Amino acid sequence: MGEFDLIARYFTRPVRRAVLGVGDDCALLAPTPGMQLAVSSDMLVEGRHFFAGTDARRLGHKALAVNLSDLAACGARPLAFTLALALPAVDAAWLQGFSAGLLALADAHGCELIGGDTTQGPLNICITVFGEVPAGQALLRSGARAGDDLYVSGTLGDARLALEALQGHTTLAPGVLATARQRLEAPTPRVALGQALRGVASSALDVSDGLLGDLGHILRASGVGACIHTTETIKLIAASAHPESAGGHFDTELLHQCTLAGGDDYELAFTAPVAQRAAVAAAAQASATPVTRIGCIEAAPGLRLIDAHGQPMPQRYASFDHFA
Ligand code: ADP
Ligand code: MG
Repeated sequence: MGEFDLIARYFTRPVRRAVLGVGDDCALLAPTPGMQLAVSSDMLVEGRHFFAGTDARRLGHKALAVNLSDLAACGARPLAFTLALALPAVDAAWLQGFSAGLLALADAHGCELIGGDTTQGPLNICITVFGEVPAGQALLRSGARAGDDLYVSGTLGDARLALEALQGHTTLAPGVLATARQRLEAPTPRVALGQALRGVASSALDVSDGLLGDLGHILRASGVGACIHTTETIKLIAASAHPESAGGHFDTELLHQCTLAGGDDYELAFTAPVAQRAAVAAAAQASATPVTRIGCIEAAPGLRLIDAHGQPMPQRYASFDHFA
């Protein structure tokens, strides 16, 4: 199978929303009048972002999910994406699984594959997504204000817990590992919540490198600080509620590490004025996405962790940084 057969077979489908899809030098999109285009790219590198031998279907899902998560963080509605793919060899079974996982998630969000590039090389997947948002309504990192509430969606820390187990640093019961691994390999982008938070949240981003590190971006962009109640964040790891984890044999330190600085969560962290509490609850309900209030924005710069006794906790959790 050659390059063009491969593209035709696995990555070409009838065009729906786009003006022109796969097959020409450029794809063509017609943005809705009055909307702004939201554009973001994320690359997944084998051995860096995922283990060699990761299930192809899940990898296809994740490659798009991490990109949709960026649209979610801006409150944008997904429109289309391009796929730049380097493959070591043509492996029909792998391509079948990968494209099935990728296109199933794309369909679930009405997000169309409109082009890309395919080359031979070490396995590397780079997706660029295009979304749209009403002009001036995108959720930004720079809008947090002192006094705002601080929230996070869904669960935190399970992806990191799975990674720790897969790397042999901790041992998990089989059911717990399966649950955690699902979060690592097939994250859920919070696309509906992001759109529901337009006009409600004052700032937002998606948690990809770990809550504390990513929240730092909001704090710097907004010129504020924050406090986080770790009694709330530690409860957000789904694995500890799993029946097979009975006895709570997780070490607290590991749970703090995973929830506060785990990485690969793809949840939304966002802020909203106290007056918007009911609106935040309504957005969570409308998008069927759980949301937890974990702290507040303060005028004093920096991040303060609060323990179960209301006392300051030392900040010793480092989020992920490719070059640190
Ligand atoms: P060009 O030479 O103009 O860069 P290519 O020959 O690389 O174009 O690609 C042919 C067509 O296939 C283009 O429309 C391109 O966008 C599309 N394409 C290439 N790789 C992929 C892919 N992995 N998924 C979807 N479309 C692709
Ligand atoms: Mg090309």
